[in-house]
Amino acid sequence: MKRNLHTHSTWCDGKNTPEEMILSAIEKGFDTLGFSSHAMLPGDPFDWPLTSSRIVSYAAEIRALAKKYAGKIEILCGVEADYIRGACSPDRSVYSAISPDYIIGSVHYIVADDGEWVCVDESPDSLRSGIDAHFHGDARSFICRYFEAQREMASTCKFDIIGHPDLCRKFNTKAPYFDEGASWYREQLEATAEAFAKSGKTVEINTGGISRGWIDSAYPSDTFLAILADKGVPFILSSDAHSAASIDCAFERFTQI
Ligand SMILES: [Zn+2]
Ligand SMILES: [Zn+2]
Repeated sequence: MKRNLHTHSTWCDGKNTPEEMILSAIEKGFDTLGFSSHAMLPGDPFDWPLTSSRIVSYAAEIRALAKKYAGKIEILCGVEADYIRGACSPDRSVYSAISPDYIIGSVHYIVADDGEWVCVDESPDSLRSGIDAHFHGDARSFICRYFEAQREMASTCKFDIIGHPDLCRKFNTKAPYFDEGASWYREQLEATAEAFAKSGKTVEINTGGISRGWIDSAYPSDTFLAILADKGVPFILSSDAHSAASIDCAFERFTQI
């Protein structure tokens, strides 16, 4: 069964409309396509994710398209929701207005001791300046805080799929800022895999970094994947597509999943 539950459209920061995404998925032989627009952040500080007022219209459009294409492809309506310590949670109770078919929980922002949010995946420059300004230039403490946030999210929130579980690697090939071979990093992976396994949640194998040209491997890395597999976590393959063209990017590398 060919499916992808992690996709973005013009409802957030994607390039194509939901219908264009569906037509591409049908052409590429998908059985199931799920939409996972970035859900609102507290206070709606940005205009690109779903806001608390637009989320109901989003769900209505996706449900209408699901009816229109019934029999050709299964269409699901989900969200990709942020975990930001003390600010927002990917929890079913937050999204009850649209009864999503599933929720992907993702960590994109790390809360520093001074309360500032540092984005993990915006750009190498903003990451470096965020670590310098709010983590005393210490990438290790930033990375440890990143995995700590993911462990908290997995163990305290009610959602379904853990998104891109080592997104902190996104810039580490083209703009290296920490050593993925270090023993402290492996300890973080081990502890995080343990928490994910205990949570019973499904973990993504996300090819989004490949389609954007940042790295040539999935999230999680081969090393993290092996640790997660050893703990028995279930996986789901997704492309985190922001365009119709990348809907099944690099899926052929993971056909056994
Ligand atoms: Zn994400
Ligand atoms: Zn995404």
